This record gives sequence, C-alpha cells and structure tokens, in this order.
Amino acid sequence: MKTFCILCREPIPEGRQRRGAVTCCPDHAKEYRRQRRAERSLRFCRLFGRPARKVKPVGPVLHAHSGILGELPGRNTHNAEERDWMEVSEGS
Ligand SMILES: [Zn+2]
Repeated sequence: MKTFCILCREPIPEGRQRRGAVTCCPDHAKEYRRQRRAERSLRFCRLFGRPARKVKPVGPVLHAHSGILGELPGRNTHNAEERDWMEVSEGS
C-alpha cells in the first residue's frame, strides 16, 4: 500500500513508511509537529498543562495619555489620573 505525506502529498519513501511515518521527510515531520503543537497550545498551556488563555484580538489601545501631545503645556484639562502621573514624573 502506498501512503502519502500529510503535508505535501508526495509518496512516503519505503523506509519511512515501514516505520509508520506520515510525512515524506524529516523537515515535513518537524513542520507537522510544529503545527500540531501550535494547534494544541490554543487549548492547553504547553508549559503548565493548564487550559490556555483566550487570546484577545490585537487593536488600538486607549490609554490615559492619548491626545496629550495636542494639549498646550500648563493648561490642565486632563483628568485626575493624568495629573497624578505628571506630578510624579516631574518630582523625580
Ligand atoms: Zn512532505
């Protein structure tokens, strides 16, 4: 029976086939393991075996200093959180 590489669909060489290989060459075996590992790491942490964290989509992040460059220095129109930050950084 002829078997084929699960990555590139090339026929698997006789010697590898006898050992039950599912890939045609060591490179594809490595790549296949990488894919399986990446897929599994979505469900379980690779290091601790705990359920994986949900990955949040990456996008623009709002933070306290957004728009600070558009303000004139000295005109304090920011909220209290930002004023605290400014006082701390100037005092040091
Ligand atoms: Zn292959």
